[in-house]
Amino acid sequence: MPAKVHIKDIWKGICELFYPALCLGCNRSLRGHEKVLCLSCQMQLPITSYHHQPENQTAILFSGRFRFQAATSFAYFTKDGLLQLLLHELKYKGRKKVGIYMGTLFGYELQQTNWVRTVDCIIPVPLHAKKQQARGFNQSECIAYGLSSVLQLPVLKHHVYRCKNTDSQTRKTRSQRLENMNEAFAIKDAASLEGKHVLLVDDVLTTGATLESCALCLLQVKGLKISIATIGIAYCFC
Ligand SMILES: [Zn+2]
Repeated sequence: MPAKVHIKDIWKGICELFYPALCLGCNRSLRGHEKVLCLSCQMQLPITSYHHQPENQTAILFSGRFRFQAATSFAYFTKDGLLQLLLHELKYKGRKKVGIYMGTLFGYELQQTNWVRTVDCIIPVPLHAKKQQARGFNQSECIAYGLSSVLQLPVLKHHVYRCKNTDSQTRKTRSQRLENMNEAFAIKDAASLEGKHVLLVDDVLTTGATLESCALCLLQVKGLKISIATIGIAYCFC
């Protein structure tokens, strides 16, 4: 029996004939099963493999700052590197599918760990409402949906919100950053989070002040446990 052909698929095929989807890394046409990056560029992503090492750089950065189960980052973020290019497409060109793609790849990595099996839900670090309105979306949410598609976990995007629109963190000292982030987050419907293991997701880890502030807010919920997952980790901490 011949396979059913959908008009949608024919139209997609025609569009791709005239406007083939290109790899964001090398600009070559993508093959049928490839998304965002061709296989060769995907293999060049500077993956950390931190999920196999409990004492990794992400975990070390948060050690002693708050209580967590596991902390990991997917790939190294370097200036002009492939990950910077992908995150730029996501954040500043609004290509949400790039975020979903990265989250999906990360999901396959995390699937290999035991700790991820005890996670109940995924929470993307929220943006302040004004910032989200200006950008049109939250990049961490796209990553969370990619992770969710592999790990089959719900994404909770209304349980934590940002109540303070913090200014730029880049020129501040660590204590100034923490002061700036103090009480930046608040929780809605805390009862539904009681006893849950939350995977807190963000795009790039630099100082960790935002994640720390969000985690400290969530940890006020009774019995809640936290693990941290970021797509990028800044290669050089300055
Ligand atoms: Zn490529």
